[in-house]
Amino acid sequence: MSTAVSLYDLSLPELEARIRALGEPAYRARQAWEWAYRRFAQSYTEMTNLPAALRERLAEELPFPAMTVETELASGDGLTRKRLIRLGDGKLIETVLMLYDPRSDSRGRATVCVSSQAGCAMGCVFCATGQAGFDRNLTTGEIVAQVVGFAREQQDAGRGPITNVVFMGMGEPMANYRAVWAAVETLTHAEGMNMAARHITISTVGHIPGIRKLAEERLQVGLAVSLHAPDEALRERLVPTAHRYPLPEIIDACRDYIDKTHRRVTFEYCLMDGVNDSPEQARSLAELLRGMNCHVNLIPVNPTPDDSIRRPSRARTLAFQRALAEKGVPCTVRVEKGVEISAACGQLRGERANVEFMEAPPKRATDITSVSV
Ligand code: SAH
Ligand code: SF4
Repeated sequence: MSTAVSLYDLSLPELEARIRALGEPAYRARQAWEWAYRRFAQSYTEMTNLPAALRERLAEELPFPAMTVETELASGDGLTRKRLIRLGDGKLIETVLMLYDPRSDSRGRATVCVSSQAGCAMGCVFCATGQAGFDRNLTTGEIVAQVVGFAREQQDAGRGPITNVVFMGMGEPMANYRAVWAAVETLTHAEGMNMAARHITISTVGHIPGIRKLAEERLQVGLAVSLHAPDEALRERLVPTAHRYPLPEIIDACRDYIDKTHRRVTFEYCLMDGVNDSPEQARSLAELLRGMNCHVNLIPVNPTPDDSIRRPSRARTLAFQRALAEKGVPCTVRVEKGVEISAACGQLRGERANVEFMEAPPKRATDITSVSV
């Protein structure tokens, strides 16, 4: 059963308690933790400084999550890799690794895009995940395992660590807050992967309690909010469950979040031809976001099973971007990467053939004209 407690489900204090309950000293937990999150061990057999009897007990009582890579696709340049992962109960999720060409990214970033749920209940009409419906929440361990899996591969290939995690795969992370947050705490743990919280981004469709909760957290995790429309009526057409969290209230929650955390919010806006991509709508969006410390990511929509939703032309995309920029809203257009590997992060379970990934937001609003589409 995939939802059984796995090693990756536990915090370090929880692991210590489990190990003490087995009659072993707490420092054994630290050793196991290091093996799991510093060396990315894939079995207890690798943990050679633990007593053999303890390793056997742990393998029985606290197994590694039962997850198998069903398919892995790589882009031609090898920089983008997508995994279709089968969970212990047979459900499928997707995880994507995005590396950046060292010629254009001296920081050597490696970003993992993780799923937080198998499926999604929000039903966005342009999203393949939303159209397929909801299966279940992922456990903390299943979220952590997506990152550790790629971290191990990076290590084995002699490449650098995973530097960034984005919750932009399948699912609505705020609807699975507890598991998502426990995963964030494991990924940022100083004695483990020690990831910078600022390099982790949670993307939400506008789940207001989640935004408010995130504002209270000690860790400085980034927030991205998917808007897609400048007004409530259109938004409810695109995000059928949006009425639960009306647009003005989402914006209020974001303003409070910025006041409280002094952090910038990213707004995602999927551009759909003839639906939400007019310069007029760009101006309304700018009005909505007036005075906010924010950044807009424009995402020309990827094809989904519903082919009535299409991406706008390049000219129309740029016109939208220009209209926003003229109103002083910093924005970028998401640049396409790895198109050939059938990998839109969280947008497919097998069948689609298009992918887009987020490039780093520009440092200044003036950078936006240099972003190609
Ligand atoms: N549920 C969360 C996070 C997962 S979706 C959310 O909606 O924010 C991550 C991003 O993928 C969202 O911004 C979403 O709008 C975008 N997305 C969904 N379907 C898409 C498609 N067909 N083409 C491009 N981006 C898409
Ligand atoms: Fe769910 Fe996000 Fe897809 Fe909407 S865009 S259905 S919230 S995963």
